[in-house]
Amino acid sequence: MSDQIVGVLGRGQLGRMLASAASLLDIQIVFLNVSEDAPAKQAFASSKHIDGSFKDLQKISELASKVDVLTVEIEHVDVDALDAVKRSHPGVKIYPAPETIRIIQDKFLQKEHLNKHSCPLGEFMSVDPTPGSIKFVTEKLGLPLMLKSRTQAYDGRGNFLLRSLSDTGKAIEALGSGSRPLYAEKYLPFTKELTVMVVRSTSGEVASYPVVETVHKDNICHLVFAPLRTTDTALCKHAETIARNAVKTFEGASIFGVEMFLLEDGTITINEIAPRPHNSGHYTIEACETSQYSNHLRSILSLPIGSTSLKVPASVMLNLIGVSDSMEPIKVVCSKALEVAGASIHLYGKKDCRNGWKMGHITLVAPSDTELRDRLRPLLQVLPSPES
Ligand code: ATP
Ligand code: MG
Ligand code: MG
Repeated sequence: MSDQIVGVLGRGQLGRMLASAASLLDIQIVFLNVSEDAPAKQAFASSKHIDGSFKDLQKISELASKVDVLTVEIEHVDVDALDAVKRSHPGVKIYPAPETIRIIQDKFLQKEHLNKHSCPLGEFMSVDPTPGSIKFVTEKLGLPLMLKSRTQAYDGRGNFLLRSLSDTGKAIEALGSGSRPLYAEKYLPFTKELTVMVVRSTSGEVASYPVVETVHKDNICHLVFAPLRTTDTALCKHAETIARNAVKTFEGASIFGVEMFLLEDGTITINEIAPRPHNSGHYTIEACETSQYSNHLRSILSLPIGSTSLKVPASVMLNLIGVSDSMEPIKVVCSKALEVAGASIHLYGKKDCRNGWKMGHITLVAPSDTELRDRLRPLLQVLPSPES
C-alpha cells in the first residue's frame, strides 16, 4: 500500500501490534531496540532490524538511513537525537513531530501547553522535591495532593498521592529522592476515566474514535469498555470535541490517546495525552472499522484515514498483568477465553513475566452490553490478583 519504509523506536506490545497492522498492508517496518527477540521484532521478520538503544544517536541515524518515515511507540525518547537526525537526514519524515514529543514527554510542559490553548484541566503547579515547597503547594491545592514526576512516567510509576503532610518524606523518596523534577496536581475525585483516541493526518485534519471508559487497578489500566455505557450522547460528543481540540494544538501526524476525567458535576478535564497508539485503543483492532495501529500507519504515510466507527454494539478489553515471574496464571485466563464467544487473545511474547508487567490482553465483543457482561464474568473469575 506504500513503498515508504517505516522505522520504529521501541520494542514492546504497541510496536508488535503496529507490526501486525503493517504486515496486513504489506508495509515494510524496521525496529530499533536492544533485544533481538523483542515482542515487536518477533511480529515482523526483517533483516533490517537494528539491535541497540533507541536513545543512541548513532543507532537512530543508522535506522534513519534505512527508512522513509520514523515513528515511536513510546514518548520517552531522546528528542535532541531526533532533531539531530532531522538535520542529518532531511528526506526522512519524523511523526509524531519531535516538538510534539518534547512537549508531551514532560507532563508539566504538556499541561502548560494545554492550558495556553484553553483545554480544560484541573489545577496544577510546579513544585520542588522539598518539604517546604510541597507544604506551600498543599496550601494552594489542598490535600490529598497528587505529586507527579514530570518525565519518564508510566503505569502510575511516577505518581504519589500525598494524603497527609507527614508523608512528605516518603513521597520525596518514592519519587526519586529529589533527583527527578516534579509537579503537583489537585486531586480530582472523578466519577469515571474516559479516553478518546484521535488520529491526526499530515495535513492536520483530525478524526476521533468513540469515547471509552477505562478502569484502573493499582494505577494500571485494567478494563476498557467501548463505547462508554451512557445514554448521554451530548457528554460523548463533548469528550470527543475536547480530545480533538487538544490534538489539533500539536504538530505532525500520529495517533494520540487523550485521557480524561469525568467529574461529578459533568465537567471533563484532560489528564494526559500520549502521542502514540494507546492501551485504551487496543479494542479498536476487533471493535472498529480501522484499528488505531492501521490508522497510525495511514496517518504517518499520508494515506487516507480509515473509518473510526465501532462495528460491534459492545466491546471490552481486559489487560493481562503479570502477578509473579510465572506466566501460568495468565495462561489460565487465556484458556478460559478460548471457550468464550467473541474473545480475541493477544499475548505479547515477552521473554520474562513480572509482577505488574503487561503480558497480554483479551478483547471481547458482543451483540449487547448484557451479553458482554456475561462473556466477561468467567474471565474475571479466573483473573489472578496482583502480589501485594
Ligand atoms: P499511563 O500508564 O497512563 O501513562 P501515568 O504513569 O502517566 O500512566 P497518570 O495517567 O498521570 O500516570 O495517572 C495514573 C492514574 O492515576 C490515572 O489514570 C488516575 O486513575 C490517577 N490520577 C492521576 N492524576 C490524578 C488526579 N489529579 N486526581 C485523581 N486521580 C489521578
Ligand atoms: Mg502517562
Ligand atoms: Mg495515564
